Amino acid sequence: MRFTDARPGPDHGKREARRAALASVRRYGVPAAAVGVLLLAGLGVWSMLRSRTGPDTRNVRTVYVPAPPPPESVYDTLRSGETLAEVLDGHGFSPQQIFDLIEVVRQYKSPRRFQPGVVLQLTGPADSPAERILLQLNEDSLLKLDVRPEGWASEVATVPIMVDTLVLAGLIESSLWYANLSGQVDRLGEDEFQEYVFDLADVFAWKVDFTRDIRRGDAFRVAIERELRPDGTLRSRRFLAIELRNRGDVLSAIPFTRPAGQREYFDVDGEALKGVFLRYPVPYRITSGFSNRRYHPVLKRYRAHRGTDYGAPHGTPVKATAAGTITRAGTWGSYGRMVEIRHTRGIQTRYAHLSSIGAGMRVGARVDQGQVIGRVGSTGLSTGPHLHYEFLQNGAHRNPSTMNLPSAPALEEQYRTEFMAGRDAALDLLSVVALPRMPSDEIGPSVAD
Ligand SMILES: [Zn+2]
Repeated sequence: MRFTDARPGPDHGKREARRAALASVRRYGVPAAAVGVLLLAGLGVWSMLRSRTGPDTRNVRTVYVPAPPPPESVYDTLRSGETLAEVLDGHGFSPQQIFDLIEVVRQYKSPRRFQPGVVLQLTGPADSPAERILLQLNEDSLLKLDVRPEGWASEVATVPIMVDTLVLAGLIESSLWYANLSGQVDRLGEDEFQEYVFDLADVFAWKVDFTRDIRRGDAFRVAIERELRPDGTLRSRRFLAIELRNRGDVLSAIPFTRPAGQREYFDVDGEALKGVFLRYPVPYRITSGFSNRRYHPVLKRYRAHRGTDYGAPHGTPVKATAAGTITRAGTWGSYGRMVEIRHTRGIQTRYAHLSSIGAGMRVGARVDQGQVIGRVGSTGLSTGPHLHYEFLQNGAHRNPSTMNLPSAPALEEQYRTEFMAGRDAALDLLSVVALPRMPSDEIGPSVAD
């Protein structure tokens, strides 16, 4: 995803999901022990039943042999400001044992790099230190530590992943965030839909302005391939097919990856959805648009503003809106620290007031679309941190938001057959749900628009 890191993303949601996952770990800890007890009880009943089939059942007495208690698992969580050693200390390990354990852990990950919230499972006989420890190294792997006479044996286990396909449809109430969902909604994780909203807006970013063009009654349906962890959290997600009805037009997006290329989206005919230019170099609000007459806050007089200002915080990464060659990189009068890029078709873009210019961004260097060229600042003639972005064609300033920007190249002939086969299979998946309509669309009189 393009702007995930810079966006005010659903980090809160992720934290919630993690908390829920932790809660479920705790929940399942107890039943596991209960299952063990039930199994033992079952064995007892079975041996009693078996003994009844013997010849002299009435004289057989059940003898109870004291068995060692089943190992107990406890869970603990690394709290903020707490070290791994401190957590272990709370579970009855000696200083020497803690030292040894930390040394083993260090072979996999620096003990200081464990974040609060990391879960430990400690298993062992009651009233003595654990003999097995499971430590969460990251979202996808666990470190298994087992006590041995010669020390702690360690092994990394991968969390098993389940892959599924989810088909959803939504009828938009006001914005993409407020959609009436249908389809396999019950399989959707908490806050998961929000992530699809970002992705969906990204896929159609060149065709639809989701802040302005979406209206009540628009609808979408999507087929998503997911990788899920055992606790239900999402490891990865990708669209297999998308249909979006916007103002009466139905747009489709089907992914295809060219050999050694990146995954890109095409319409049903193989035309690229992506534009040659990104819509914006930073995912932030426009604070001052392109105009031929504007009161300048620093110069205190009217003059043309031949660019677009984005109110982004200091340090926000600035992305090249299209591939090209750098023609300026450095300080240039009122632009402050800036980068200028030459693209195809006589187009140039400028990124001004930067706090810093990215490493390797010098005149003559090639940049890709979306590559970070610098960071937002307030150098030059500027009242505060913002990005001043200019778009020029044949040397004349143009307003990129009103220009009909060119699309990326369509899918080449040699990939068409493969693409069409994939497209048909993907659209078949979508057919599980209908593209929803407002009830009034079906019963009301038709209105010309
Ligand atoms: Zn400006």
